[in-house]
Amino acid sequence: MPAALTLDLLKQADHDTFCRLLAGVYEHSPWIAEGAWTRRPSDGFTTLAQLKRTLVEVVRAAPEAAQLDLIRAHPELAGKAMVARTLTAESTGEQRSAGLTDCSPEEFARLQQLNADYNARFGWPFILAVKGPRGLGLSRQQIIDTFARRLSGTKEFEFAECLRNIHRIAEIRLNEKFGAEPVLGNQVWDGAEALAVHSEPGFAERGELTVTYLTPAHQACAAQLLQWMREAGFDEVQRDAVGNVVGVYHGSDRRAPRLLAGSHYDTVRNGGKYDGRLGILVTLAAVRELHRQGRRLPFGIELVAFAEEEGQRYKATFLGSGALVGQFDPAWLEQTDAQGIPMREAMRAADLPATLDAIAGLRRSAADYLGYVEVHIEQGPVLDDLDLPLGVVTSINGSARYRGRYTGVASHAGTTPMNRRRDAATAAAELALFAEARASADEGSVATVGLLEVPQGSINVVPGACDFSLDLRAPTNAQRDAMVLDVQRQAQRIAERRRVQLQLEEVMVASAAPSDPAWQRRWEAAVRALGLPVFHLPSGAGHDAMKLHELLPQAMLFVRGGNAGISHNPLESVSNDDCELAVQALLNLLDQLAQETP
Ligand SMILES: [Zn+2]
Repeated sequence: MPAALTLDLLKQADHDTFCRLLAGVYEHSPWIAEGAWTRRPSDGFTTLAQLKRTLVEVVRAAPEAAQLDLIRAHPELAGKAMVARTLTAESTGEQRSAGLTDCSPEEFARLQQLNADYNARFGWPFILAVKGPRGLGLSRQQIIDTFARRLSGTKEFEFAECLRNIHRIAEIRLNEKFGAEPVLGNQVWDGAEALAVHSEPGFAERGELTVTYLTPAHQACAAQLLQWMREAGFDEVQRDAVGNVVGVYHGSDRRAPRLLAGSHYDTVRNGGKYDGRLGILVTLAAVRELHRQGRRLPFGIELVAFAEEEGQRYKATFLGSGALVGQFDPAWLEQTDAQGIPMREAMRAADLPATLDAIAGLRRSAADYLGYVEVHIEQGPVLDDLDLPLGVVTSINGSARYRGRYTGVASHAGTTPMNRRRDAATAAAELALFAEARASADEGSVATVGLLEVPQGSINVVPGACDFSLDLRAPTNAQRDAMVLDVQRQAQRIAERRRVQLQLEEVMVASAAPSDPAWQRRWEAAVRALGLPVFHLPSGAGHDAMKLHELLPQAMLFVRGGNAGISHNPLESVSNDDCELAVQALLNLLDQLAQETP
């Protein structure tokens, strides 16, 4: 076993030694270590994450031809080089640990075919970090499935995805060189796996994850979280009147205001393992670590695993976090699910009191808390695309939704001259393009026409009506309102010019929840302390923090999602190393807060 590499060794190394120490991290591409030498900070790399990021930046800054050479420097998976035993030691180990050296003849034939198809389509070998997001190795079936799925990607996406996988391979190789193990990140990752064991009938059989409010799978998750909180060293652990699982880790002064942290443990149907759960597990790991060190902070930490955020079984989105800010619609108790079971009964069956008094008692008082923080998987492609593990959220976007209809005149497609038409669909199309351009002109705004339909349309009829939806979101209410106004005005102008009628009905408005500046700065400092660049982004999706925003100053931290950030989907993915960084960032934020507290 060679002596573990350290940041100190790297710092003291001369140019040749530096490059030799990092040899083999990137396959047959010594120019990347060279680039890191040039970019090394004058006082050396302070964290392994900083070194990894610097290597990534060298590749990102390289010309496309060099990036392509890097991809082509990699062997095919279970390819001729493996058979001929001409792989590098690193690649041999990785392919062996993924079991590729023990393929059945059928699997081997399938991989050969995939290799050939992939190469023919893209012109480079398929690259996959076969050690996977946990570093323990993907199964052969997972590898073959991923291979088949990625064959249908675009050339541009696959090029970037190959580079991302190369960075993940390098990350795992670096961890091995440094003898670095993401212990806390592994706790988070393994926790998400263990929690995902509980899924509802009809989904569980297919290996799909579905956990909706107060079903047996949901209650099993709550029981598991209660147990983990107790084991982690929380002093008070309980399930509250709506099913939230609440743990308190006391500070040295029990009366001092607490930090509130949380996220949700329910899922959408056939969802991912990390949406919501990641934030719970990251906080759990941070408290477990504090307890292991025997540390008490000057303030307490209250972790709330919210029972309901997704609004799946009942139309009661944000029920869990809403209860903490005194928002619980009494009508919800009578609401029935698809089987006709009222929420009140579901609560009673789950041994919850199901009374409005008990629920009203969950309301928190702002004076008892310092603020609210939430770690969440990004659920979008931004961080993944930038090769950044963490991002600081500036605001949860405010949104406005509309249903609209243009009404023109349905007329003969053959006999109506172009200048005589009153085409409702082209009016809607023009509006969709305007909304797209208008949102693009802003920083952080998004606009979507997700529904577009010509009722009773026909191939040979000029559309007489067109129904559409508008979903407009922006980081502040003012920015959203300005966009809404522009889109409304343009919608009217289009109607007039095209001689069609416009109906536009507002169906939903939600306020933006900008991050509290002081709390956002704490996340920024935490990310910087990890040696990572601070990157800001708004949240396009709603989160529990949106509700707590009404009571407390709040700020969120986003964690990169793999597979281009896909979410509400079984392909949702995070790596153990990114989980580790998230826990470390939270611990750093807690340290800052401890130092600020008199
Ligand atoms: Zn979520």
